[in-house]
Amino acid sequence: MTSTTSSITQLLKTHFGYDSFKPNQEAIINDVLSGKDTLAIMPTGGGKSLCYQLPALAKEGTALVISPLIALMKDQVDALRANGITAAYYNSSQPEEEQQHVLQQLTKGELSLFYVAPESLPNLRHTISTITLNLIAVDEAHCISAWGHDFRPAYTKLGSLKQEFPQIPIIALTATADKATQDDISKQLNISHAKKHLASFDRQNLFLDVRPGQSRIKQILKFLGPRGAQSGIIYCLSRKSTEKLAQKLKQAGYKAKAYHAGLSPEDRANIQEDFVNDTTPIIVATIAFGMGIDKSNVRWVIHYNMPKNIEGYYQEIGRAGRDGLKAHTLLFYSYADVIQLRRFTEGTATEEFQLAKLERMQHYAEALSCRRKALLNYFGEHLTKDCGYCDVCQNPPKYVDGTVIAQKVCSA
Ligand code: ADP
Ligand code: MG
Repeated sequence: MTSTTSSITQLLKTHFGYDSFKPNQEAIINDVLSGKDTLAIMPTGGGKSLCYQLPALAKEGTALVISPLIALMKDQVDALRANGITAAYYNSSQPEEEQQHVLQQLTKGELSLFYVAPESLPNLRHTISTITLNLIAVDEAHCISAWGHDFRPAYTKLGSLKQEFPQIPIIALTATADKATQDDISKQLNISHAKKHLASFDRQNLFLDVRPGQSRIKQILKFLGPRGAQSGIIYCLSRKSTEKLAQKLKQAGYKAKAYHAGLSPEDRANIQEDFVNDTTPIIVATIAFGMGIDKSNVRWVIHYNMPKNIEGYYQEIGRAGRDGLKAHTLLFYSYADVIQLRRFTEGTATEEFQLAKLERMQHYAEALSCRRKALLNYFGEHLTKDCGYCDVCQNPPKYVDGTVIAQKVCSA
């Protein structure tokens, strides 16, 4: 144990330049190194990548990393290379020459980490079976679950990896913490026996604020008063409302841009880059925006509409304050949103499941006691004290009058 501990600490320092591990990293890395299948559940920004990157370097051979987005793969590969680590990614949008070059490196055993999109995996199975694999990492593993919030059909094919490579440890990583999704991940990856590591989801630097959704635009302009030059994200339910709100903010003199899946890939990449570089401080977006963006100084996140579940909400507010400094999160709650979200679930295969999650989200928005307690409780964590850093703690309801609340919410 001591020798492993000191050698992985050494690797942490020499390859990544860090002196100490973040919570849970060391225990996860030790499990992976001892050959166990592992399920790592850590909040966004918790340092999940390192949990497979470091073991990949500690063992001979190549780590296979499944990642859902080209942008994510590219960021990680760039960062690894900057640290002198040989890593590459493979996906269908690369020029063929580049693909061939990467496969050559892979088969020659030159890569410590090989990133691939799940869709490309079937074509590479043979090649991968010829190399020395040291571990398989399934990043953003909630994409495997139809119960999660970013379902990706190609992920469901990853279940055969365990049969094909029974000796190779699999590590699945996600920031999605509800128990049903966790169980679904292990089941589908055929690692039901996996060692589970659940890190704390408490992000103490995020102020949790929920307000009734009347005159939202007016409220937002007031909110932006002292904050308009800071970096922030406003999440809306529809593409149209992102465009409309971005337009309003621009008219009011703010540097804001809309972002949604209806834009061209070039436009999306440019907007994302301008946000990361602080050229465009404010992004008004659908939930298509944010996954994989490693921007540390996002100072606020607003939900113009209520998210459809707590996982999504948590992940989206989690994009604020990744530098550990204080950040404000603001959720507008209106019953009209609840009705619309309910309508979206109608007739879908998982309707009941989604409705149950929506109801939990609604309960959170309506909570009359510490929000953080309610939020963490959803993830199975129990705070012993009220947080003192949410709207309810700072401004407790003086009396509980259900009719007044109902009236407020209905008139939104
Ligand atoms: P996640 O995937 O859990 O959202 P990342 O793997 O992207 O998180 O890591 C978030 C940030 O934390 C990255 O900038 C990473 O370099 C940094 N990081 C990871 N491990 C450590 C550590 N032990 N000490 C300091 N910073 C770390
Ligand atoms: Mg990650």
